[in-house]
Amino acid sequence: MKTFPQSVQKLIEHFSKLPGVGPKSASRMAFHVLNMPKESALDFADTIREMKENVQFCNQCFHLAEGPLCSICQDAERDDKIMMVVEDVLDLIAFESTGEFGGRYHVLGGVISPVNGIGPEELNIFSLFKRLKDSGVVQELIVATNPTLEGEATAMYIKQELVDLGNISITRIARGVPTGADLDYADRSTLAKALSGRIQL
Ligand SMILES: [Zn+2]
Repeated sequence: MKTFPQSVQKLIEHFSKLPGVGPKSASRMAFHVLNMPKESALDFADTIREMKENVQFCNQCFHLAEGPLCSICQDAERDDKIMMVVEDVLDLIAFESTGEFGGRYHVLGGVISPVNGIGPEELNIFSLFKRLKDSGVVQELIVATNPTLEGEATAMYIKQELVDLGNISITRIARGVPTGADLDYADRSTLAKALSGRIQL
């Protein structure tokens, strides 16, 4: 039974694919868009199109960028001597929001997970090693993967692969973050504490 006109039904289906949105909320959202002034609704649609057409991953750190390099990589004021490795862009944003970190980032795009068939070659890990070797100025690498089994295993893998680059100090964020927790849900002061209390890996 088709309850809604097809285009409304289609929008409901799109909304229901978003994280944490059930069928009821999806219907409510679709109705909200339906009741918007035409101009706002079209602007909403154009914004999605523009984002998909213009946003890409930074060639250097894999943060989001509108161009080959992201705003952080382009920022000459940041400290090249210290680099933080994070799992995804949301974690990068979470650390940026603390205002406590002025170095560079490298976004892995996930963690090593043999059960899910994700090895280092599926992630931005080899580009990290290459970046460190090529730059030669990084003195400390902070591994800020999530405190999960996979996050810890990924941190250990990075440490082992970088043994040859003995001049880089490899550190891990402190356990201020509860085990198994998602970094992007931790509050700013917890993240700032985890960062300042980092330990040698
Ligand atoms: Zn970048």
